[in-house]
Amino acid sequence: MNELDSEIIAGILTKRGLSETTDETLADLLIFNTCSIRDLAERKVMGKLGKLGRQKKRDRIIGVTGCMANAKKEAIFQKLPHVDFILGTNNIHDLNCLLDEVILTGAQSIRTDEEFTQELDYIAAKRQDKSKAYVSIIRGCDKYCTYCVVPYTRGPEVSRTPQSILEECRELVAQGYKEISLLGQNVNSYGKDKPEWKYLFHDLLYEIDKIEGLNRVRFLTSHPVDISRELMGAIRDLPSLCEQVHFPLQAGSNRILKKMHRLYTKEEYFEKVALLKELVPDVALGTDIIVGFPTETDEEFEETYEAMRQVRYATSFLYTYSPRKGTPAMRWVDDIPESIKAERHQRLLDLHREISSELMAEKLGQEVEVLVEKRSKDGNYLRGLTRCWRHVLFEGADSCIGSIQTVKLTGYSHQTWMGQMGKASIETL
Ligand code: SAH
Ligand code: SF4
Repeated sequence: MNELDSEIIAGILTKRGLSETTDETLADLLIFNTCSIRDLAERKVMGKLGKLGRQKKRDRIIGVTGCMANAKKEAIFQKLPHVDFILGTNNIHDLNCLLDEVILTGAQSIRTDEEFTQELDYIAAKRQDKSKAYVSIIRGCDKYCTYCVVPYTRGPEVSRTPQSILEECRELVAQGYKEISLLGQNVNSYGKDKPEWKYLFHDLLYEIDKIEGLNRVRFLTSHPVDISRELMGAIRDLPSLCEQVHFPLQAGSNRILKKMHRLYTKEEYFEKVALLKELVPDVALGTDIIVGFPTETDEEFEETYEAMRQVRYATSFLYTYSPRKGTPAMRWVDDIPESIKAERHQRLLDLHREISSELMAEKLGQEVEVLVEKRSKDGNYLRGLTRCWRHVLFEGADSCIGSIQTVKLTGYSHQTWMGQMGKASIETL
């Protein structure tokens, strides 16, 4: 979501006539699009901003956008008086106004609305990638997991109209994009805040699938409680929808899940995973897991470990618990020592590596569909992405970049496949 917001901000600034520089010392305007999800992310930005403040003063504008803007508000000005403006996650549309204000008056400015109310210029987003694009379908979150700052920094759920989403998807396909990732904190909530539309997430997927020339659709992320049978059916039936689902477990113990306010039990979660695997046998599952949540015992951690072993996730984002100001979990002492959090985290990382190697070994010799993205860093290979969200390196001509090819999987190293482009694909080039 932050990446897309950065692309939208870059789009607004490009329309204004600014050009991008990768050399920070040359910039007249520096914007930090921040994340508040864990303390480390915030400390990095504060450190970097602090350093800028200690440098020799020069005539440039510094802005803070993203979740930290909403989480810290004016406190940023108090700590970092050289910051010129603060623009919250729900105020990206105000960027030009705010810049004008800062330039005209030289005074510090701030906008941090609680709720997202105004449509953004998505079409103008300055996208980094030429074949894959993010499309925002719902902003905010109403789930209020007890550890999470997102409902406070991004506000309540607000679905974007289907017309606007479909229009953007069609425009992207016309521009040559082959893959679209639909974005939201919880995409499965799509439409629930607008009951009068009578239009839910799977309805949107069925319409997007009809867009000619769009090869792939993914979505992230989805809350397990809202992963419905209809959605699973859509993954099975719609040719464009990739067989990959981020299905964030967070913890394997029912007591911890309840304390996290995740709204499902381990058993309910397993039942949904079993149904999805039955309907879409080739599905690649992903997860987010937090270790060291307040009061998590060794036995409860073992339940998370076992759940990971049982589900066999292809991708895992593993976190150690980080207390966030303003969240309900701040009521509880962060009682798990950092050393134990680190140990649990490492054990899950090791398990993930083991499982992902097994999953990769099982697929050796198979042919997969690859979206060719670019040349590898060393220049020797083409690099592409499978429908299941794995990278593949293989030999081929630059003319393949941006196209979909069939590649036979011949080996793997860490999380990346090695492959060989199918003979038929080479002949049609
Ligand atoms: N809406 C998404 C999550 C967005 S935040 C979802 O529910 O799946 C991405 C991940 O960051 C979360 O899934 C969680 O695993 C992690 N996270 C959020 N708050 C955290 C915290 N306080 N400490 C550690 N990890 C956290
Ligand atoms: Fe945070 Fe939970 Fe919302 Fe995800 S669903 S953004 S973890 S509150």
